[in-house]
Amino acid sequence: MFASVIVSVSSNSVDRLFTYKIPDSLVDTIRVGHRVFIPFGNRDIQGFVIDITETTEFDISKVKEINRIMDGTPVLTKELIQLSKKIATYYIDRQISVIEAILPVALKAKTKTILKLSETAGSNATELFDELQKNNEIVVSNLDKNHLKSIIPFMKSGEFVEETIVAQHTKKKTNRAVRSLNTNRMPSERAVKQRELLEWIESEAEPVTLLSIKDAGYSVQVIDALEKRGLVERVDIVVDRDPYESRVFFEAERHTLNKEQQVAFNKIEYSMKQYKHETFLLHGVTGSGKTEVYLEAIESALEAGKDAIMLVPEIALTPQMVNRFKARFGDYVAVLHSALSHGEKYDEWRKIKEGRARISIGARSSIFAPFKNVGVIIIDEEHESTYKQGERPLYDARQVAKWRAEYFNCPLILGSATPSLESYARSEKGVFTRLELKHRAKAQPLPETTIVDMALSRQEGNISIVSDILREKIIDRIQKEEQIILLLNRRGYAHFLLCQDCGHVPMCPNCDISLTYHKSNGTLMCHYCAYETSVPNKCPECQSSSITFRGSGTEKVEEILRDMFNTEVVRMDIDTTRNKGKHETLLMHFEDENIPILLGTQMIAKGLDFPNVTLVGVLNADTTLNIPDFRANERTFQLLTQVAGRAGRGDKTGEVIFQTYNPDHYSILDAQMNRYKEFYMKEMEYRRIARYSPYFFHVLFIITSENLEHCVKASHDISKILLENISNQSIVIGPSPSPIERINNRFRFQILLKYRHEPTLKDILEQLDQRYYVAYKKSGVSLRIDVDPQFI
Ligand code: ADP
Ligand code: ZN
Ligand code: ZN
Repeated sequence: MFASVIVSVSSNSVDRLFTYKIPDSLVDTIRVGHRVFIPFGNRDIQGFVIDITETTEFDISKVKEINRIMDGTPVLTKELIQLSKKIATYYIDRQISVIEAILPVALKAKTKTILKLSETAGSNATELFDELQKNNEIVVSNLDKNHLKSIIPFMKSGEFVEETIVAQHTKKKTNRAVRSLNTNRMPSERAVKQRELLEWIESEAEPVTLLSIKDAGYSVQVIDALEKRGLVERVDIVVDRDPYESRVFFEAERHTLNKEQQVAFNKIEYSMKQYKHETFLLHGVTGSGKTEVYLEAIESALEAGKDAIMLVPEIALTPQMVNRFKARFGDYVAVLHSALSHGEKYDEWRKIKEGRARISIGARSSIFAPFKNVGVIIIDEEHESTYKQGERPLYDARQVAKWRAEYFNCPLILGSATPSLESYARSEKGVFTRLELKHRAKAQPLPETTIVDMALSRQEGNISIVSDILREKIIDRIQKEEQIILLLNRRGYAHFLLCQDCGHVPMCPNCDISLTYHKSNGTLMCHYCAYETSVPNKCPECQSSSITFRGSGTEKVEEILRDMFNTEVVRMDIDTTRNKGKHETLLMHFEDENIPILLGTQMIAKGLDFPNVTLVGVLNADTTLNIPDFRANERTFQLLTQVAGRAGRGDKTGEVIFQTYNPDHYSILDAQMNRYKEFYMKEMEYRRIARYSPYFFHVLFIITSENLEHCVKASHDISKILLENISNQSIVIGPSPSPIERINNRFRFQILLKYRHEPTLKDILEQLDQRYYVAYKKSGVSLRIDVDPQFI
């Protein structure tokens, strides 16, 4: 028998499959999906079995043998192997890279050592021990079968001597032999300790860990002695690292679905029973109870004996969601959390693999949850760009979810208050089935939104980042002991430093971007490469000391708010949430202590459900509008709608303020009026004219090099190859410098390909990829091919 093994050797951009002979000892155990250890060149490496055959076309004498299997059961199912191939083909990557992305980084269980009674000593350990202590001699023929068995290790240890005394009166002496054991009595103090420990182990129902024994003060000698006598043995057992171990999940209210929810759920349930794949777009306004529909759909899947996958944009940001799932389904839920250690991730993965967990909830990569019988896949906030992986393999979890749902013939539910244009367009075409929740679940009205023109506010003499209207409303809520959420999509203290004499702005030496001032640690930081330097007290160009800070980030605004309102502020941004569990602590603090203000970057815009929040303020609604990306309008509309949706979720009506310098922009106006459909129509028209997605598909080529000339030349080469090979219905834009022309000392150029149908595209892309994989080694130019990019 032979195995095709895929290995990770990075000398080439193509996958390398090698044939190995399966040794006789492994023929019965080895399966497709097993991780194996194989000889490769002059070393041993790991690989994955992706096929098993009885014959091979290779010269058998040259085919090497697999050394060993690395895990008890295969780490990959056949479905996941197929999927990895599909992803690799679609996103122009290597199958092995995809396999590595599918599996947890660590595939290693955590073990703990326990001391258990040895098989032979059985439950008679202390009894036996006592007997040995009491008597110098045990007459073996007096012992019953169990005790007899227990004697064996004592004899093996050599501490007890076996003597055969032939009974005087017997004639058939072999049969009537009496054996006895001479015991050397132990010093009593040591014996007492040993007996004590033995008794403890015997009395516990659960295995006793070596650690706890040592903690209880037993010396290694005592443990060794018992082990030597064969009374106990050390055993390593696999344990779960449960990141939610110490947490109590409160029973969540279980709601009867309202009419809209019921209609939506019925359609999903019906589809499930047809055992046919169908994609649903669940378009529900913020607070309409989409999560409740997800929970019901999952319950149906479980009842049918199937498993469920639930994706959320960033799990650390949605502790409330995890709570609702854990409260309802308890230990059936595996949580795949970006903040988990590699070991913890592996344990959650193993729970799924072994069928102990039936539901996985997690961010992008948890779409690879190794279930064998998926009954429903749900993607919450489906419009989020985080579902697209930013590094290779550049897969999109929404696309992968679609493939998996097709394979399992199960529904895929895409939920959002602000669906991506792509998904909504598909629902208009009837490719996806649209389900709508037009009202909030508890019949609260959606909050009223007021737009504040900041240019006007400045003309009227208020140069603060907080307009008069917003300030009044904040004061009002503080008085009423209600809560406020403020969004500022820019972290740090000041956006940049400016010399007032010569206009110098300190830039990152590695990237073409200005440095952001972080007051808390007194540094200037690059948000692209993490370069850090201390703040100069003189302008490095003209030595002037009139350096000012321009633009404000969350850190500065936090200070302004504290001064202005003399109140506590919870700030949430990357800088305050670096440590594990910090998101959750901050949010709990905000809720439990009824802190008046939560200020944060867009990480506060999604999913939060705080009933006492009655005011939401967006300090600068234009931040996302100014991003050089064709989705800037869409992202602005989505962000504003989402954050506005945090207000008035309890019994009290909510209110929202958008501060903007573009008060007439349709992204902002439609978000103000909750007009999804109107926004969609306008934005679609722009996309049609400008020939962007969803009318066209995109592939983005990013060419980088430390050498500008090489970068430019490669970019033109690629552009030329594209133009020569594609049809005249497709469009090539560029090459042009990327919006940030240099990151981490590498120059960046980009080319955008827009196409509707391009039958030979995959071949062209593959060739380009292979060519530049090699070129990279030689001239330091690297090419990144991003199929269906999120950012352009
Ligand atoms: P979404 O995910 O659409 O933003 P949620 O599922 O978080 O909305 O629901 C918003 C709020 O409404 C939650 O507090 C939830 O407990 C409540 N809720 C959901 N469905 C119902 C229902 N059928 N009856 C009463 N309350 C509900
Ligand atoms: Zn200067
Ligand atoms: Zn930088």
